[in-house]
Amino acid sequence: MEYDVVIVGAGPAGLSAAIRLKQLAAEGGNEVSVCVLEKGSEVGAHILSGAVMDPVAMNELFPDWQALGAPLHTEVTEDRFLFLTESKAYRTPDWMLPACFRNHGNYVISLGNVVRWLGQRAEALGVEIFPGFAAAEVLYNDDGSVKGVATGDMGVDRAGRQTADFQAGMELHAKYTLFAEGARGHLGKQLTRKFDLDRGRDPQTYAIGIKELWEIDPARHQPGLVIHTAGWP
Ligand SMILES: Cc1cc2nc3c(=O)[nH]c(=O)nc-3n(C[C@H](O)[C@H](O)[C@H](O)COP(=O)(O)OP(=O)(O)OC[C@H]3O[C@@H](n4cnc5c(N)ncnc54)[C@H](O)[C@@H]3O)c2cc1C
Repeated sequence: MEYDVVIVGAGPAGLSAAIRLKQLAAEGGNEVSVCVLEKGSEVGAHILSGAVMDPVAMNELFPDWQALGAPLHTEVTEDRFLFLTESKAYRTPDWMLPACFRNHGNYVISLGNVVRWLGQRAEALGVEIFPGFAAAEVLYNDDGSVKGVATGDMGVDRAGRQTADFQAGMELHAKYTLFAEGARGHLGKQLTRKFDLDRGRDPQTYAIGIKELWEIDPARHQPGLVIHTAGWP
C-alpha cells in the first residue's frame, strides 16, 4: 500500500503528527494521504499512563478543543507535596515546590481517553488508522533510505506455525515514515543503530514506573487535587 506518510504508533505523538499534517495540507489546498499503524487492538488500548496534562500542545493543535469536546474536564485546583512517615504526613510549603510540582492550568486526564478522542479527530480529517497491526520490520530503498514498514504475519501459533487464521503481513510504502513508537520502540532502536542517531547525544535514561488506580470513598474525592508523596513506605 502506498501513502504519502506512514506513521507507526497511535500515541499522542503519532496522532497529533497525523492531524497536523492533514491540517497543513488543507490550509495549503493540498491532499496528503496519511496512515497510522497501531499495534494495540484499538487506539488507546496500550496507553496506560497519564494523570496530569499540560494543555499547551492541545491549544496549538485544536484551539477550540473545548468546543470540540476533548476529554480534558478536570482542571487542577491544588497541589500538595507530602513527606510521609509511617503514621504522619508533613506538608511542604507551596513556595518551596519546584515548577514540576506546580500544576496550575493543567488537567487531570486519562491519556487513553485523550488518544481515543485524537483518533476520532484524525479519522474525521481523513487519516486512515489501522489498529491491531504492529509494524514489525523497517523496509529500505536501494539507496539505504527508509521505504516504509512491513506488518507482522497474523495467525501464527507459539511454535511459529501458520494457523487457520493466518494472514501474511503487508508492506506499507511512503515518501515519509514517522516512527512514534514511544520510549524504547524496537524499530526505533534499530534505526538509531543503523543511522547512528545517538552519536554525540546524551544516552537515554529509563526508569520503571508503577501506576495504581485507587478506589476511594466518594465523600473524600476532591476533583482537581494532585498529591505528590515521598518517604514512607
Ligand atoms: C506510568 C506513566 C505515567 C505517566 N504520567 C504522565 C503524566 O501524568 N503526565 C504526562 O504529561 N505524561 C505522563 N507520562 C508520559 C507520557 O505517557 C508520554 O510522554 C507519552 O505517552 C508519549 O507519547 P508517545 O506518542 O511518544 O508514545 P506512547 O504514548 O508510548 O505511544 C506509542 C504508541 O505506539 C504503539 N506502538 C509502539 N510500537 C509499535 C509498532 N511497532 N507498531 C505499531 N504500533 C506501535 C503503542 O502501542 C502506543 O499506542 C507517563 C508515562 C508513564 C509510563
